[in-house]
Amino acid sequence: ERLNNDFQFLDVSREGPKKIKASVRKKQYAEIYEPFVATEAAEQSHRCLDCGNPYCSWKCPVHNHIPDWLQLVSEGNIIKAAELSHQTNTLPEVCGRVCPQDRLCEGACTLNDGFGAVTIGSVEKYITDTAFAMGWKPDMSNTPQTGKKVAIIGAGPAGLGAADILVRNGVTPVVFDRYPEIGGLLTFGIPEFKLEKEVMANRRRVFEEMGVEFRLNTEIGKDVSMQSLVDEYDAVFLGMGTYTYMKGGFPGEDLDGVYDALPFLISNVNHCLGFEKDPADYISLKGKTVVVLGGGDTAMDCNRTSIRQNAKRVTCAYRRDEANMPGSKREVENAKEEGVKFLFNRQPVEVVGENGKVVGVKVVTTKMGEPDERGRRRAEVVPGSEEVLDTDVVLVAFGFRPSPAPWFADFGIDLHEDGRVKADEKPSQGRHAFQTTNAKVFAGGDMVRGSDLVVTAIYEGRQAAEGILDYLEV
Ligand code: FAD
Ligand code: SF4
Repeated sequence: ERLNNDFQFLDVSREGPKKIKASVRKKQYAEIYEPFVATEAAEQSHRCLDCGNPYCSWKCPVHNHIPDWLQLVSEGNIIKAAELSHQTNTLPEVCGRVCPQDRLCEGACTLNDGFGAVTIGSVEKYITDTAFAMGWKPDMSNTPQTGKKVAIIGAGPAGLGAADILVRNGVTPVVFDRYPEIGGLLTFGIPEFKLEKEVMANRRRVFEEMGVEFRLNTEIGKDVSMQSLVDEYDAVFLGMGTYTYMKGGFPGEDLDGVYDALPFLISNVNHCLGFEKDPADYISLKGKTVVVLGGGDTAMDCNRTSIRQNAKRVTCAYRRDEANMPGSKREVENAKEEGVKFLFNRQPVEVVGENGKVVGVKVVTTKMGEPDERGRRRAEVVPGSEEVLDTDVVLVAFGFRPSPAPWFADFGIDLHEDGRVKADEKPSQGRHAFQTTNAKVFAGGDMVRGSDLVVTAIYEGRQAAEGILDYLEV
């Protein structure tokens, strides 16, 4: 009877998976959502109207076949749903956890118009988690081997997306990463309360069984030369991310107690996972007052990690209003519930110090003006609105700029003016998708598009691999 009800959305309201209470979760580095049980997943999936205009799929950067796998889940056919989900996405269980669904698939759901979108992300996570628990793995039995091999620099979502497509087409991917684990920012950036590390550890086992080789703790340009990759492999894919930290450009940024967001988050991951080389590398905020500057995903992760480290007080200052925050709304809510205090429309102008140490952040109030070229409203300063926020620690989360390797020029890999690698998505004039100006070298993810999202990096890695297959004529 349930399956025959085309208007289930009228009877069943949108319900996400249960969340662990804020008082409990803020003491743990563990995911905050409980898994869907089978009946919840089926009921929520069956809310899909099958509206015939799957805007959700168009808005999803990898164009998942969302209505089709929702239907399969509502029928309890998890294995088929997992097969279908993996046709378009390399890491569906990760995207289900970390995509900002409110501005992607779920933001485009027809039911968003008053009824509440289908919980697409949670169902996507449920499908793969459940299929793996049932012993499912990608079927590689009918993959003819081409004998070709491709070197991939970077085991982040872009590199993994490329490896997935290559190995499924009989090309051996050998993935190099300077870090001791795969995942890139999924492991050394995004904290465990959004994505537990076991998820990537499991994926590594799955990839290895599929035939992907990983060479970790290996930096290209230092431990292994780019020249040796160009000589020994049929092609090279670059998925190296963006690692130049943006600065505010105001006085006091180098005072003791000011940290860039990523080194702080990485030190926490290394501490929690036992990768710490020297205990002095751990940045502990226990008992400290903390001001986080920024309003994106990285800022939210800093806020919520500080709370878990038992900081005395955590305040997040952002220069626009709440409606114009760039990150996921869900994570802002989670941060508020866990005790982060938000100060919107505050722009930092100076970090104030005493004897070389931070004692405060001077901010000015802003009001929202006209939209900028990206459609976000500009923050305009209100004259005479200066105030100082007392603090022991400042975490700077202003985002990332490209960090091209010095050896790119030696290999004829050209850059845009802002440091992004030139590699066009659209094949043209004999050039393949995501081919750089060196015909043997392809690139994708943050280093090509500028720092963005996990799902867009996966998409570019997969598309670049299609370009590589065309180039190799396999
Ligand atoms: P990366 O993930 O950065 O991977 C690049 C890899 O290349 C790294 O492992 C690096 O070690 C390796 N590498 C670089 N140079 C070399 C070399 N010379 N030799 C060997 N290896 C090398 N996105 C979301 O969608 N949702 C979120 O919730 C979210 N939260 C985020 C939170 C934080 C704190 C940060 C920093 C980012 C977040 N993002 C989020 C963005 C997302 O993580 C990135 O857009 C995505 O990881 C980019 O993928 P990538 O493969 O291009 O690069
Ligand atoms: Fe939505 Fe991201 Fe999944 Fe696409 S990959 S369906 S945008 S959660």
